[in-house]
Amino acid sequence: MKVTIIGSGTMVPSNERNSSGVLLEYENTCSMVDFGYGSMHSLLKKGLTYHDIDRIYFTHNHPDHICDLIPFLFASRYPKDPRKKDLQIIAGPGFKQFFDTLMKAYKNWLVPTTYKVEIIEQDEETKSYDGLVVTSKKMKHIELSRGYRFEFSNGKSVVVSGDTDYCDEMIDLGRKADLMILECSMPDEMKVQGHMTPSECGKLAQKANCRKLCLTHFYPVCDQKNLREKCLAEYSGDLFLAEDFMEFDF
Ligand SMILES: [Zn+2]
Ligand SMILES: [Zn+2]
Repeated sequence: MKVTIIGSGTMVPSNERNSSGVLLEYENTCSMVDFGYGSMHSLLKKGLTYHDIDRIYFTHNHPDHICDLIPFLFASRYPKDPRKKDLQIIAGPGFKQFFDTLMKAYKNWLVPTTYKVEIIEQDEETKSYDGLVVTSKKMKHIELSRGYRFEFSNGKSVVVSGDTDYCDEMIDLGRKADLMILECSMPDEMKVQGHMTPSECGKLAQKANCRKLCLTHFYPVCDQKNLREKCLAEYSGDLFLAEDFMEFDF
């Protein structure tokens, strides 16, 4: 099983950091957690196209997490090479209504004709997809926000926060995880409500007692600051600062 950071950035366009996206490759299935702008191109660099993604989990519907769903659905209708495989989209309650509105806004240009899209609204619960056990919890960001814990059949677990402020739900979700991918939008001295700083991420990861911590969702100012030092003052496990295409193998 392999986890790849597809986008470690935010709403701010960057040549170094795409908007949010994490690729999970597991037993011949490919899933994305979020699908921000730039994701389609980065997947292409890994040899993956709109044919290859089986499932998309959305942490929420801010554009930097969802934008490339539009070109993905449009490309899937390419008459000379249409997508054939059904697609599942998992997101919090309310997503179906958002998705339907998006479909209407584009008239029929995104509506699948050669495959089916199934929208699965998952609240604070545990479900299984192709043997992958997925637990979601509400995050402290917007109403739709959900974080995900993925438990693989080899016993390993990966947790993705999406955007969130510090919250107990994220500690619960990340308890003893093999890899916790946490958003770290701003340095400590520039804290923004609804997002985390490196010290908060370190504190949260220490409480959750996760084995590896990967910080991501970096606004440009983060690249000029020493996030590592602030985080490691609170956290004693392995720390990674995400870069696009960073991989974790389990
Ligand atoms: Zn974001
Ligand atoms: Zn957001």
